[in-house]
Amino acid sequence: MLSKRIPLVLWLCLIGCTFSLSLLPLLAQDEAPPTDGTDGGMDPVTTPAPLPTRMPRPAVYLIAEDGGVALHFYFQVLRQGETQLARVVGDDIASVRARWLDRLIDFYPMDDGFYGLLAAGMETPTGRSTALDVFVTRADGSRVTLNTTVEIVLGGFIRQSVTIPADKGFLLEPETERNELARLESVFTTSTPERLWDETGFQMPILAALTSPFGAFRSFNGTLNTRHTGWDIRTTLGNPVMASAAGRVVYSGHQEIRGNYVVIDHGYGVYSGYAHFSTTHVTRGQLVEKGQVLGTTGSTGRTSGPHFHWEMAVNGSWVDCVQFLELWQP
Ligand SMILES: [Zn+2]
Repeated sequence: MLSKRIPLVLWLCLIGCTFSLSLLPLLAQDEAPPTDGTDGGMDPVTTPAPLPTRMPRPAVYLIAEDGGVALHFYFQVLRQGETQLARVVGDDIASVRARWLDRLIDFYPMDDGFYGLLAAGMETPTGRSTALDVFVTRADGSRVTLNTTVEIVLGGFIRQSVTIPADKGFLLEPETERNELARLESVFTTSTPERLWDETGFQMPILAALTSPFGAFRSFNGTLNTRHTGWDIRTTLGNPVMASAAGRVVYSGHQEIRGNYVVIDHGYGVYSGYAHFSTTHVTRGQLVEKGQVLGTTGSTGRTSGPHFHWEMAVNGSWVDCVQFLELWQP
């Protein structure tokens, strides 16, 4: 897990060297996981410029081919919580759709083929191969199906104890958590057949230190055991939070656990969520640009202090949003 994080850290250092980026909480996360919502006393972050980032195109592997159509993977191993890319190439392809983990995944057309995002949930079982069926429809209506398997490996998630103040103890009811997740998942499982993000990919919503990691097994006040659906970022109150990429606001309102919360639909099943705002500046239905300010940091919802929680879902699964930043995008 650590080695996967280092390239992002270096990248942030290069681009965001004018910001007080503390690497310590990130590098130390396995030894001493910080509690949720600590205020590390950092100086307020000024409005950061969007990051002009392009990841290098990774190696591509031929996985299957038939009838003049080929399936490529841009990865070898898929960990729990990770998102990776598959590509289909061939002549006169009209559409590509895949079935994987009981979900349908629409591939999006680019200059050199159709790309699909394969996202493993943090609880997707490991140690067995999962069937991936790719359905290709040509312009003349003929079809080709390519079959393969994808193996999921352990995500290596940490355990954390989190203490919430007594006056927020009512937010530790398992039913509150279940209901909120069900509401969000009803949003995330829809897919807009339009790619709203651009070739520069996604960026951090705030340039500040990452603290509590995605996927952590969390025990709240020793009573509620749950999973962390995103990453926490250290910040004080009132700092601007940017959209990770262009998209459409599909939720801006209050949730019990996430507090004042915004969700952006980026298209093709990719969503980003931004939690614990003090104020929000966007409304449902609004199109936002990459880097546009969505609101200011706060401590609303189930927090032990001011911090920012950032999360992403892809094709209906919560995914590691920091790993998603490292993903090369065509
Ligand atoms: Zn969080």
